[in-house]
Amino acid sequence: MTESVSGGTSGSSLSYYLSRHRVDFKTAGTVRHNLWASYRIGDKLATVWGAPADFQIHKNLKTKVRDLFWGRSIDFDSNILTDEAVRKFCREWDKFRPDILVAYAGGLDFFVKRARDMKLSFAPPRAIITSAEILTQEARNNIEDFFEAKIFNRYGCREFSVIASECRYHNGLHINAETLLLEFEPIDELADKRKHCRVFITDLENVAFPFIRYELGDVVIASDEKTPCPCGRGLPRIDEVGGRVMDYLKLPNGRYASFTAITSTFFPTVRGIIKSRIIQKKIDKILVQIVKNNDFDEESYSRLRQGLARVLGDTVEIELEFLEDISREKSGKYRFVISEVAE
Ligand SMILES: [Zn+2]
Repeated sequence: MTESVSGGTSGSSLSYYLSRHRVDFKTAGTVRHNLWASYRIGDKLATVWGAPADFQIHKNLKTKVRDLFWGRSIDFDSNILTDEAVRKFCREWDKFRPDILVAYAGGLDFFVKRARDMKLSFAPPRAIITSAEILTQEARNNIEDFFEAKIFNRYGCREFSVIASECRYHNGLHINAETLLLEFEPIDELADKRKHCRVFITDLENVAFPFIRYELGDVVIASDEKTPCPCGRGLPRIDEVGGRVMDYLKLPNGRYASFTAITSTFFPTVRGIIKSRIIQKKIDKILVQIVKNNDFDEESYSRLRQGLARVLGDTVEIELEFLEDISREKSGKYRFVISEVAE
């Protein structure tokens, strides 16, 4: 039996136990998805990882064992995104020629934007596995275009490892249903009319500790499952991970808006936005922080204003703030939406 600690669902830490059997299932879930992405034992790995703590554990405890069985790796700490660090990683990449890239979704998106500005290029890996952060469609396009490789996104957490992940058809994420039971509870009236749901997870394999209808605090977009996935796997699917429950803004008219609903509807038509974050100050006051480049012009400004008003409604006061940069959380993750409104 192994004792573990996670961040829990409300920011407080949760201590829990995993049976040996469950630890093996966790590993198996990860290895299975690695294989879906063509990541095989012995492949050369590159990582772009954002959590300094994970990065250290990764380095000190796991590296020796992993090197024996999984081959060597080069690692980039996406918290240190200086020009010099990016250039050094590019040189390492050139020498090492990794087969597979495993990365934080948001961290890799920023990395690519920086590398693109610096006019660097990287030999394409065979596949890219992203996890740990929300992968927006815009980030997916940006990353796949830059590396000329497909992303195999996966949704997971410390407690269960892989919860759902993409096969080579990228047709939503297949749920790891042999070991986990997922139940969905819809959140009503969203801006983009898709089935955004809170998700509750029951672990079917861990006999050492009961995880029953456990809420991680994520929102997933449920699949209508009308057409089976061409890969032939019978595992049920979710369409995508929409964000954290706390990333959803409750608006004065009773509607909810998510960051992805905002970014997928009109952000792609606004030129010159590098990063953005949305902070709800009051129920009817929203601050939008933007990091822009030279392509951002008057038209960008008016499109941004109009788009925000359309998605958020005219009962909300919207303030724009332009910043040099937007920092990450201590965990190394990047939060797109922060609500300062108490429930
Ligand atoms: Zn499939």
